[in-house]
Amino acid sequence: MTLKPKLYGLVGFPVKHSLSPCMHNAALKALKIKAKYKLFELQADQLEDFLNSLKKNNISGFNVTIPYKEKLLPCLDIKSPGVREIGAVNTVVVVKDGKLKGFNTDFAGFIRHLKVLKVTPRKTAIIGAGGAARAVCFALGKSKVEEVCIYDIDVYKSLGLARQFKNVFSQTRFSAVARIDELNLKDKDLLVNASPVGMHADDRCLIEDKEMHRDLFVYDLIYNPVETKLIALAKQRGVRFSNGLGMLLYQGILSFKHFTGKDAPVKIMQAALEKGVSNL
Ligand code: NAP
Repeated sequence: MTLKPKLYGLVGFPVKHSLSPCMHNAALKALKIKAKYKLFELQADQLEDFLNSLKKNNISGFNVTIPYKEKLLPCLDIKSPGVREIGAVNTVVVVKDGKLKGFNTDFAGFIRHLKVLKVTPRKTAIIGAGGAARAVCFALGKSKVEEVCIYDIDVYKSLGLARQFKNVFSQTRFSAVARIDELNLKDKDLLVNASPVGMHADDRCLIEDKEMHRDLFVYDLIYNPVETKLIALAKQRGVRFSNGLGMLLYQGILSFKHFTGKDAPVKIMQAALEKGVSNL
């Protein structure tokens, strides 16, 4: 029996516009690994069939995105400490006997990108309290920042997130605020937008001009568009900034290593992403 070619991929819904295939396929090609990375756009009721067909389709690992990062947790046989503590999975590797091992490379990707940017925050503010914010909070707690202040339109979500990490990281003060101006950006050195606000052309900028200052670093997790209104405001005010492309790259690099056991060709993946972005 000839085995089907090895597959990796991204599971989520919707995933059509993802840039993950371009960066992973470029890396697989560069390292001459006979495998492909595909998009698996699945409805919730298709997940079970997908998991049952891994062996048949020779799928060796997959990334997970919205809305399944939490939903797939019960399907894992082994969870990395990051997955257990964050409560979300973004990388699944099929290990011995078809068992599924889950990792979270989002948080480590974020930490790695901050390092590359030479950003060493102390007092931080986060907009949004969803899955990505959870990974960012974990990353900031691990980095032993002094303070993480969270705002979400749903205050119960931000309160829940602050509570989740309060007892895990004793050196970091986690808090939630009910209004965005209570983030008190004048007192912060890192602002992370982990909300989807900014993805659409008619989205307004959540931060006012007067709140920008030179000691702030603005990190918008959004990478499509590459310049959100928040980033444009930071740029205009001479405030340092980054979009989310770096986090996407570094989480992908870590996932690639989990998938293949090989060090990812960083420059090749970065170039593929930049090319992908220019074609959006
Ligand atoms: P999510 O789970 O839906 O979380 C987003 C959170 O933001 C939700 O709690 C949402 O509340 C809240 N929100 C919506 N509008 C808001 C507003 N006006 N003010 C404050 N909070 C608001 O999504 P996610 O997975 O965390 O992703 C968030 C963003 O990060 C997306 O743009 C995604 O593309 C990006 N992301 C980037 C990377 C990367 O590698 N660069 C990785 C992961 C995610 P409701 O649920 O009530 O709307």
